Amino acid sequence: MQLFEKLIEYPEAERLVFESTPRLPVEETPLGEALGLALAQDLAATTDSPPFDNSAVDGYALRSEDAEAGRVFGVVDEAPAGRPAKRSVGEGEAIKIFTGGVIPDGADAVVMVENTSGWGEEFELKKVPSPGDNIRAAGEDTRNGDVILAAGTEVGAPEIALAATQGYGSLPVYRRPQVVVLSTGTELVEPGTRDLDPGEIFDSNSYAIVAAALEAGTDARRLYAASDDADTLRAAIEEALETADVVVTSGGVSVGEKDLVKSTMLDLGVEQVFWGVKFKPGKPLFYGTRGETRLFGLPGNPVSAVVCFDLFVRPALMGMMGREDRRRPRVPVYFERDVVNKFGRLHAMRVSIKRTEKGWLAESVGAQGSGLVSSLTRADALALVGPASDGIPAGEPIEAIVLRQEKLLS
Ligand code: AMP
Ligand code: MG
Repeated sequence: MQLFEKLIEYPEAERLVFESTPRLPVEETPLGEALGLALAQDLAATTDSPPFDNSAVDGYALRSEDAEAGRVFGVVDEAPAGRPAKRSVGEGEAIKIFTGGVIPDGADAVVMVENTSGWGEEFELKKVPSPGDNIRAAGEDTRNGDVILAAGTEVGAPEIALAATQGYGSLPVYRRPQVVVLSTGTELVEPGTRDLDPGEIFDSNSYAIVAAALEAGTDARRLYAASDDADTLRAAIEEALETADVVVTSGGVSVGEKDLVKSTMLDLGVEQVFWGVKFKPGKPLFYGTRGETRLFGLPGNPVSAVVCFDLFVRPALMGMMGREDRRRPRVPVYFERDVVNKFGRLHAMRVSIKRTEKGWLAESVGAQGSGLVSSLTRADALALVGPASDGIPAGEPIEAIVLRQEKLLS
């Protein structure tokens, strides 16, 4: 029988994971596929932006020195966006211009059509513009050569917009991790396919883990749910290893006779980094490497699988993507009543949190069994109870990992 040789503490396990999950290689990635990735280099402006002086409004470009209320101007050309005027503006002349149109030579101001008698061959000026009025100057946004985005920046919609203004069709970012997720367990049935026979349950872990991996910004896919049969398991893990940067399994990693995930991985050349963490929920967590691939064997209990993903796999994936914010925020929380920890190991307790004048009040979401999936939907945070003490007195602050960051704004 296999038994845990050595259980390690949570911070040690986290450190071992972080140390062995360096950033993935840098890849020029099309702009449309770079969302959520981190820039590997500073990005410099390739041109002044805007590239030319242009109009901020619809109206007439003219010489401000000619401007006088009541003066009539002759319209000699037009400059819609994308089609510069062919003529320049002389004394008493104006060129019809639209937002984004190039300011014609000779003109130094644009008057809004609302401040004239209207559109036509000529118009009367109603309100006198000052030099530079309604002109967006070349380079007023960014200057050629300026660093517009620093290395390490996470690419979001604004960063994509800024890069596009500079003509970048692709960005140098750390490659997006490919995650392959597989559930193990002969009892598992694919949800939506049929009713359960006695002893069966629906596979929820692989769906939850893929969703969480996508949320972390990776490319994640499920492999079919494997059984506990050794050959099936081996074939599935082998297939996962072909494409994955990170393989995540659930179930079959504890000390039961049917728990073959660890031995199968070791047979396939995976080097164990650790197996067993003094942590609840998730004691049997396995972590190993093979070449550049990282493998996490998450426990099968749905709460353990999700919590272990969040605390170990998610930050590993985000670190591989070059994301600085890989660790979730932590806040001190207190309880209204004494809390016991009779597990003899660190308990990451599912709690809801509420802001009070004394700080963040935590309340257990209820029973803490590792199979209680519904409890996850009510958990805002994981309060870290222990490991040194067997409890904490009411009112004493402890650290909590915030799962729902939006709670911190409430
Ligand atoms: P194991 O870690 O394989 O011993 O599984 C522990 C518990 O989690 C058992 O009750 C399993 O039936 C359950 N379980 C394992 N895998 C899954 C899964 N993919 N979805 C839902 N429950 C699971
Ligand atoms: Mg199992």
